[in-house]
Amino acid sequence: MQTPRRLVGALLLAGLTGIAGFAQAEASATLPAPLFPTLKTVAQIRQACDSGLASAKKALAQLERRKVDLGWMAAFDDYAATVEDGQSAVDFVQYVHPDKAGRDAAQACSMRWTQFNSTVAQNEQLYKALKRAPTPQPRDRELQRVALGAFEDSGVSLPAPKRQRAKAIIDKLGELDQQFNKNIRDASLQIAYTEAELQGVPEGVWKNARRDAQGRILLGVDYPSYGPVLQSADNPETRRRMWEAKVNEGGEPNLRLLAEIAQLRREYAGLFGYDNYVDFNLRRRMAGNAQAAWKFLDEVQATVTERERADVAELQAAKAQHLGLPLAQVRVERWDASFYAERLRQARFQVDQEALREYFPAQESLRFAMRIIERLMGVKYTPVPAELWHPEVQAFAVSDAATGKPLANLYVDLFPREGKYNHAAVWPLRGSATRIGRLPAAALVVNFNRKGLTVDEMETLLHELGHAVHNNLSNTFYLQQAGTAVMHDFVEAPSQMLEDWVVNKQVLPLMREVCADCKPMPEALVDKVVAAKHFGKGTQYGRQHLYASYDLALHGKDPQDPQALWAKMEGATPMGHVPGSKFVAGFSHIAGGYGAGYYGYLWSLVLAMDLRSPFEANKLDAEVGRRYRERILAQGGQKPAPELVRDFLGRNPSNAAFFDYLKH
Ligand SMILES: [Zn+2]
Repeated sequence: MQTPRRLVGALLLAGLTGIAGFAQAEASATLPAPLFPTLKTVAQIRQACDSGLASAKKALAQLERRKVDLGWMAAFDDYAATVEDGQSAVDFVQYVHPDKAGRDAAQACSMRWTQFNSTVAQNEQLYKALKRAPTPQPRDRELQRVALGAFEDSGVSLPAPKRQRAKAIIDKLGELDQQFNKNIRDASLQIAYTEAELQGVPEGVWKNARRDAQGRILLGVDYPSYGPVLQSADNPETRRRMWEAKVNEGGEPNLRLLAEIAQLRREYAGLFGYDNYVDFNLRRRMAGNAQAAWKFLDEVQATVTERERADVAELQAAKAQHLGLPLAQVRVERWDASFYAERLRQARFQVDQEALREYFPAQESLRFAMRIIERLMGVKYTPVPAELWHPEVQAFAVSDAATGKPLANLYVDLFPREGKYNHAAVWPLRGSATRIGRLPAAALVVNFNRKGLTVDEMETLLHELGHAVHNNLSNTFYLQQAGTAVMHDFVEAPSQMLEDWVVNKQVLPLMREVCADCKPMPEALVDKVVAAKHFGKGTQYGRQHLYASYDLALHGKDPQDPQALWAKMEGATPMGHVPGSKFVAGFSHIAGGYGAGYYGYLWSLVLAMDLRSPFEANKLDAEVGRRYRERILAQGGQKPAPELVRDFLGRNPSNAAFFDYLKH
C-alpha cells in the first residue's frame, strides 16, 4: 500500500537560495483540488490527526466487511484515499511548520500514522481479499501485484511470532528515522565569524545575518550559507569550520541510530530468509538484487575513478599555484574542493557561479521553470491567492493548455527560514484517481537565496519541479498508482531528465517571455557554462558512487560500524577521509526511505539520460513532450517502469547515453 514519501534531491550539496512579486494572481482563478488544510495551531494539528485516524479506522472496518466482488479493488482504493486525506498534510507540516510546537505536534501525529499503517500492512483479512479480488484490466492486475508485494514485505504471510517482530521493527524504524532527522533539525548549528574571516564571501550571504554579543556574524549550516562559504571564503580556516560543523551535524547520536537502523533492517530481511537487506529490498525494483546493483556501480566506478583522480590533480595544482607552494607540499582538503573548483571554473571558463544569480532572480526563475513545463507538456500554471502554511508559500492551479481542463494544485515554498526542512524536496500530498475525479496536489520545498539562483540551483529547481509534474500530470485510474508511485529506482528519472533543460540556447530565451526586464545570459557565457559543467564530473559522480556503495555495504550481510565503514570507504577515495568527520551522521536519505536504495539516483540517471534522447533535435518539441506526458507521467505506476520507458522510447532502455556523458 502506498504511503506518502518525500522525494529528495540527489546531491546533498545541491541547495538553493530571492523575492520579486509573481505577476498578480488572477482573481478569478481557483485551485482545482481541495486546498491544503489549515494546520496552524497545535490544537488544529491534533484535531486533524484524531479525525483523520478515526476516518481511516472506520474506512478500514468497512473494507474488511465488504464482499470481494468486481468492485473490491475500487473500494480498496477508496480506503487509500481516506488514508491520504487524513495523513499527508499533517505528515508534511512537521517539515515546514513555522513553529517548533507545530512541527513537534505534527511529528507526533506522523508516528501515530506510521503505527496505524504498519498494522494495516499486516492485515491478513485485507491481504486475502486482495488476493481473491477480480482483476479484469491490466491496471487492476498491476495494482494487485504491487499491493500484494507490499503486504508480503510487511510480513503478513509470515508465521505469527515473526509477523509480530516484523511489525515491531517497522514501527521502530519509523521512529528512528524521525529521530535521525529531528537531531539534524534541532542541532541548528551556528558558527560565529568576524567580517575579516568572511573575506571573499559575497556580502549578501552574511550582511543581514544575526550577530552574537561580540558582534560576530552567526551563520547556519544551511545551503544559502554553507555553499557560498565553502566556495568563496579566502581563509581556509573559515571554510574548515563551516565544513566541520556540517559534517558533524548529526553527531554521535545519529551514528548510533544508523547502526541500529542497519541492524534492524538486517534482522527484518532475515525474517524473510534473506541474509542481507539489499537483496530483500531490491527484489521488487528494476535492479532486482544486490548483485545487479553492485555490477552497475562497478561499471560506473571503472569510468569515474580515473576522472576523479584527474579532477583532484587539477585542484591540487590550483592550490599549489594559489599558495605559491611546490605541488608535493600541497594536499587538497575536503573544505578546499569547492573553493578551488570554483577558482578553476572562473579562471578557465570565466564562470562565476555567484555572478550567475543576476540572470536568475528567484521568483522569475520559478516562472521560467514553469514556462519550460508549459511549452513542453502543454499545461498552464496560474497563480492563485491562498493562505497556506506560511505567508511566503505560493499556490498555483495547473490546467491543460489546449482544453483548459483543471489538472492539479502546486504549492511552492521557496525561501529558507528557521526550523524549515533544509534540503530540496517535493511532497506528493494528493494523488490522482480518474475513477473518482480526484485531482492531485504537490508541495515543492526548496531554500533559495533571495538574490537569485546559480545554475546549479536552477537545475535543482527543475529537478524538483520534475517530481511535482510527475504528481500533477498523473492521470491514473487508481490513486495507489498515481504519479510517483513507480518503482523506487525509476522515481528520480523524470526529475533528473529535466535538469538538462536549463543551460540551453533554445530554452534560455523563455526567460524573456516571463521577465522582459531580466538580463539575458549572453551566448558566449552559455557556452562557458556548458563547458564548465563538464569540469568536475569526476568528483561529482565519484561522490555519488561513494554514497551508493556505502549504502549497499552498510546494508550487506555483515554488520558494520557506520563510522568505521565510512572512514574506510571515504578513505579509499582520491581526497581521503578526515579523521573524526561524521558525514554519515547527517545522511538522512539512508536512515529513511532511500536505505539500501541510494544507488537508485545513479540508476535512474541512466534512464533519465536515455529519456532525453528523443528531445535531442528539439529541446522544446511539444509533440515529444506530449508523448512523454501521456506515456510516462500520466501512467504513474499503472505499468512496471521498464514498460513505461519502452512505450515512450519505442525500444529497450540503454545505458549508452550515460556512459558517453561520463567519458565526454
Ligand atoms: Zn529527486
